[in-house]
Order: sequence, then C-alpha cells, then structure tokens
Amino acid sequence: MTTMKSVAEALEHMHSAVGSLTGGETIAIEDSLDRVLAEPVSSTMDVPAYDNSAMDGYAFKAEDVSSGTSLKLVGTALAGHPYTGDCPPGCCIRIMTGAQVPAVTDTVIAQEDTEANGDMITIHAELKVGSNIRRQGEEIRQGEAIYTAGHCITPVDIGLLASLGRADINVRQRLRVALFSTGDELVQPGQTLSTGQLYDSNRYVLKAMLQRLGCEVIDLGLIADDKDAIREAFESSSQQADAIICSGGVSVGDADYTKQILDSYGSVGFWKVAMKPGKPFAFGKVNDAWFFGLPGNPVSAVVTFDQLALPIIQKMRGIQDYDRIALRLQAGTAFKKRPGRADFQRALIQPYGDQSRVFSTGPQGSAMLTSLAEGNCYVQLDAEQGSVQEGEWVTVIPFTSPLR
Ligand code: AMP
Ligand code: MG
Repeated sequence: MTTMKSVAEALEHMHSAVGSLTGGETIAIEDSLDRVLAEPVSSTMDVPAYDNSAMDGYAFKAEDVSSGTSLKLVGTALAGHPYTGDCPPGCCIRIMTGAQVPAVTDTVIAQEDTEANGDMITIHAELKVGSNIRRQGEEIRQGEAIYTAGHCITPVDIGLLASLGRADINVRQRLRVALFSTGDELVQPGQTLSTGQLYDSNRYVLKAMLQRLGCEVIDLGLIADDKDAIREAFESSSQQADAIICSGGVSVGDADYTKQILDSYGSVGFWKVAMKPGKPFAFGKVNDAWFFGLPGNPVSAVVTFDQLALPIIQKMRGIQDYDRIALRLQAGTAFKKRPGRADFQRALIQPYGDQSRVFSTGPQGSAMLTSLAEGNCYVQLDAEQGSVQEGEWVTVIPFTSPLR
C-alpha cells in the first residue's frame, strides 16, 4: 500500500518515530568539528580574564591629566609580561595591545594621540577615564552558559572552547550510516558504459553529504537487482549501522526487488510525498536500523534526502533544533508550476541592481543534476499554488552545509 503524505506529514511521522542516539565519547576539541555536544558548556572563567589594553599606547592614572599634559615614562607592560612596578602622579607606562592594565593605572591612551620626546610623553587628546581598556568578564562571565547539549560544533566554536581553556569535550557518538545504490542499469564511474546503462551518481552525492554531517559512512557500493544480494545488503547494513539509506527501487511497480524485500521486514512504509522533485519515499525499520529509501532520479534522491531524511538524521545525531533559514525575495525569472505538489525548484540568488533577486537555474528535470549544481538555493513553492511571475515575492531556502 502506498500512502500519500504532505512534506509536513512525512516529517511529523518520522519525528515521532525516531529519537536521538544516547551514546557519547570524550574527544579533543580539535577533533570535534561537526560533532554534536553531549554536555552543556558554561565558562569556568571570566573572558577576558583580566583588564587589558585595547590599544598600543600609554597607561596612567587619569587624575590631574588632560590634553597637553606631559607624563614621564617609567615602565613597560607587554602582552604576557605584566608591569608590577609603581606609577606615581605625572608618570605613565608604555602598554601594548592585550597587555594587562597595571593596577596602579586606570586609563589607556592610544599612541597616535600622543607625542614622544625622549622619555616624556605629551597627551594630545581629550581624556575619558577608563578608555581603551577591555574589562575583565565583559564578554563572558565565569559560570555563564555558552552552549546547550545538542549544539553542532563549528570552527568558531572550537576556537571559543579553546579560549575557555577546554582541551576536550563530550560529544555524541558518530551516527553510522550504511549507503548503497540499487539498479541493474547502474555502473561504477571509471568503467565503460554499455547501451542502456548509466553511472551511479546518487551514492557519491549522498556519501559526501553524510560526511559533511559528521557521519561514519558504510559504503556498500552498488547492489545488483538480485533478491539475495539485496537481502544480504539490508541484513549486513542493519547490523553495522544506525541508519540505512538506499536510492532506487522504492517507486510502485518497480521491476527490482527492493520493495519486495523491504515488505518482508514488516515496518517499512512506502509513501508518495507530495513534493517535486521526489514523491516516492520509503521509511521504516530494518531490524534495529532506521531506513530511508530515496527515489532513484538523481535530483529527487538529493532533494528528498535533504528535505526529508536530513532533519531526522540531525535528530538522531542529537541535534534538537535543526532548522533552515528562509528568505523572502523577488523572483528574477518566472517559475513554472502546476498546483498539486510542493516544489523545491533549484535557483540562484544573484545581484539585481543594488538588491538581490532569485533566478531559476533553468530546466528542472528530476534527473538533471546540473539544476542543483548551478544553484545556491531552493525556491520553495506551496503545494496548492501555481506559476510565479517575474517580480513576485517567493520563499527562498539557501543551500546550507552539507549541500553546499
Ligand atoms: P528508480 O527509482 O529505481 O525507478 O529509478 C528512477 C531513475 O533514476 C531511473 O532512470 C534510474 O536509472 C535512475 N537512477 C536510479 N539510481 C540511480 C543512481 N544511483 N544514480 C543515478 N541514477 C539513478
Ligand atoms: Mg530502479
């Protein structure tokens, strides 16, 4: 039985079925890119840890100092080499950016607002007491919450963790995803094509996207349209992986055996999702692994993966609040559409005068991978609506990693 679902219904069904992995491990922060935090992180220190100079210049006590005053240079504070001596009235200390502001001073003046004559420094600017000092704790207070568990770690996060002195971090275990392609017409790149054959491209896009998601990909390659081979692929992948993704063979009336074999596991639903590209999509359990069956057409495979499987994979990885940015832009070209299914047309945000508009990437055939390769966003059109004319406002979803 094939069930018809809207995109929202399909996502809701999968979200209510699938939970997050619970296992975790402690790893070095430099290995944590794209991993998901398994612990909340709060700061064990003030950042900055001490008052420091925002400028190369001179530090002094502002009392009795004004524009035109000359101060005697009595010491130097360098980054990493604090000045611990005295700074009597009428004196100043040379200070460099990042150096701790000596406790005996309260103000820093930038070098360009002074004039040096031997060891006499003349002030050439109006003074503001406390100026040019980055205050202890002004960015982060000790004990302040920085991240909640479930946050996906970016390069900047690694830097921020480093700035807090964290050397290692608790993250969720990597999601293991088994991946294969089915279809007797498919040939591995590098081999010669015979008539009626085409190269397997889905596995290559999907593998790269999964790698960008920080998943451990178990690549089972190309599985022939053979009952035993397909059953064996499902058995071995369900033993090794948390999730299984295959493309091809999930549409109704397909000549291959994928559907027959999946039926024997009893819990896989074959859906028609009202989206374009896409439509056929299968979801359920194969032994203990969650299974996502994607349509074979290359654009359909990538877009159903991106729109339907990805949010669930993010949840399995431990990300609770996965969401995408949606923009509203005017169409730079017309977008043809028939009412019925939600469209994810491939498009390009480009400059238009001193603004931006969104332009179609051209022919939108579900086998045309170039429509995705040339795009940097989707134009998302509601199921019920028809064509869009140039100049109309549309919803635009920029491609994000791992798609881009
Ligand atoms: P299917 O969903 O198996 O009916 O396949 C639909 C279309 O996608 C057919 O034209 C297939 O040849 C093509 N196709 C299926 N799998 C792949 C793949 N891995 N790479 C490229 N094209 C594919
Ligand atoms: Mg097929």
